[in-house]
Amino acid sequence: MHETPVRPELIEATDAQIEDAVQYAELMALRGLLYLLTGDEAFARTKLEQVRHGAFKMPTVVDEADVALLRNGAAEFLKSYRDSGAGEVIPVLDRLADSVRLTAGLTLSDDDVELYMEELGLPETERRMEWQAPPPADTLQGFKVLVIGAGMGGLTAARELKRAGIPYEMVEKNAGVGGTWHENRYPGARVDTPSRGYTNTFGVAFAPSYAFCPWPENQRYFDWVADSYDLRENIQFNTEIRTLTWDQQSARWIAIAHGPDGEKMIEANAVITAVGFLNRPNVPEIPGIEQFDGECFHTARWPDELDLKGKRFAVVGTGCTGYQVIPELALEAEHVTVFQRTAQWLTPTKGYLEPSPPQVNWLDRNLPFYSNFLRCRSSLPAFSLGDLTEIDPDFDDPHACNPKNKEMRDACIDYLVQRLGDADLVRKMTPPHPVRSARPVTCDADYNVLDAILADNTTLVDCGIRRINKNGVEANDGTQHDVDVIVFATGFRAHDYLYPMTVTGRDGKTLDEVWADKGPRAYCGSMVPDFPNLWMVYGPNTNGALGPATFHELVTRYALMCMQRLILDERQEVSVREAPYIQYNEYVDSRNATKVWSDPRAQNYYWSSHGRSVTQNPFSPTEMFRFVRSPRFEDLDIR
Ligand code: NAP
Repeated sequence: MHETPVRPELIEATDAQIEDAVQYAELMALRGLLYLLTGDEAFARTKLEQVRHGAFKMPTVVDEADVALLRNGAAEFLKSYRDSGAGEVIPVLDRLADSVRLTAGLTLSDDDVELYMEELGLPETERRMEWQAPPPADTLQGFKVLVIGAGMGGLTAARELKRAGIPYEMVEKNAGVGGTWHENRYPGARVDTPSRGYTNTFGVAFAPSYAFCPWPENQRYFDWVADSYDLRENIQFNTEIRTLTWDQQSARWIAIAHGPDGEKMIEANAVITAVGFLNRPNVPEIPGIEQFDGECFHTARWPDELDLKGKRFAVVGTGCTGYQVIPELALEAEHVTVFQRTAQWLTPTKGYLEPSPPQVNWLDRNLPFYSNFLRCRSSLPAFSLGDLTEIDPDFDDPHACNPKNKEMRDACIDYLVQRLGDADLVRKMTPPHPVRSARPVTCDADYNVLDAILADNTTLVDCGIRRINKNGVEANDGTQHDVDVIVFATGFRAHDYLYPMTVTGRDGKTLDEVWADKGPRAYCGSMVPDFPNLWMVYGPNTNGALGPATFHELVTRYALMCMQRLILDERQEVSVREAPYIQYNEYVDSRNATKVWSDPRAQNYYWSSHGRSVTQNPFSPTEMFRFVRSPRFEDLDIR
């Protein structure tokens, strides 16, 4: 007798349907997964070649016979699994590490494997805080955590706190969850890294309908997380924390929140901030702005229901956001004038704008652990980032920092030449800074900002803005550009961590005062001495090494491990000691100094006026994993 099917849809599938679906499977995910499912060494022996996927060259199966072996293997597995009743499949744990190595196609150390086994999001390798002993009920109930922000970081923290049974309260300034994706609703807004890796390891059951989801699909994911894990009940929406003050006597944080009912005080033993560093709009002060007669807004404040048709737009700013919004406007608006101060590098990606074919989500539902292996595979490109960004002092080139960086620059320029043809336009669209010294822009290989620039209804202005007036924008060369709408795609206050909150620590000093000298710094991107029981979930120098979901999950687990010590040992406060904080940050700075974003031609939020980067993380994924996988309690002061 067959066991109860856990995949009834598969039971109904024909051979032809299965054979069709496997043509859409990602080959490296199949390579590890089929080995896990069958133990057949033939899958492990499939050969690899380096193939460019968007920005990165990654090992991939290319040989036709090997491709057929993997696709046929998947079809055969699915047919026999269907015929046996499509019941529960238990992964063979002994094969898991090798399966991850096969999906990576890279030489992985044991620490790498530990990290990427967690990235699978399987229950067996789940990233979670385990209680070392049952927590005393009274102590646990008397302990309260305040989580600030209900975007990806805050939802991650809430989900883990809830699972650990630690009481918490969450505040969110917006009316809904989703953070960045709640706010950034401009036309063209979508992720620039694969959505599989932009979801949590506990979110593998969510099947994104695009390889790179547009904002409504990202919003659907965050709503799914909030609903699936029942997180809304603890969230106070439309509520913003203005001040956070440590009260030494009670060893608690006192937060002043502003919400629909006015001002309110919240007391908490610990605080997790998840406010994002690309959140507060940077709106430039351009002379004459108050005289403009039309509409004027930042991309993160895009008005609902704005009709693009028949309107003349000015777009100020050409980072990831500008380059995303311009091609969408060009399709519908009467005219778009692009004010570009600095061009950005483009990494064209085939199918970037396309929804996934239905076979992809069919595989999610019917091929056991397929979505887990896709999730793991999606987080692997970060591994190759170091190769592109490390300055090779012996590499002599006026525009690139190492041979791979030059190879990528050459590929980017070839693309500009191929798409634009016109030498003057290629010059205007070639950034002055080396590749990867600023965030490059992922774009669709077949329709993107370059097509928009070539369109008849678009004007590129690269001489700067003199002033704004009643009718539009006057450029530095004196030309007047009359417009109906001015869009500021001018980015965010990326260096103002926790802005605009005033956070006051143990000695009455604020974070702004502590950071005045060298800019925002934190130990492991999260903790600051004399600010006890406070963890920033994506604090200074976190951008880079690990994907945001991975970072949020690791720092959350780290924070919960610290809280566990407080709760089990009946202690009040944990903070980082001064010496490890300084040492860690000196190490971050010394490593950032060898990164391409320290190049003086790069003028963007990757580098700060303090002569150091406050945002970028210079480490490899595994180096960072070693820092945050669990607390080094000798670096912490527990009282
Ligand atoms: P950004 O990268 O900081 O770019 C801001 C743009 O505004 C730059 O072109 C900048 O020019 C220009 N600008 C700033 N002040 C100006 C002024 N006074 N006059 C004229 N131009 C001015 O901001 P962003 O494009 O919003 O992107 C921020 C980050 O958000 C990205 O790096 C990325 O991490 C993230 N993001 C991701 C996605 C995605 O997932 N697809 C999409 C959008 C954003 P200069 O370069 O000359 O300073």
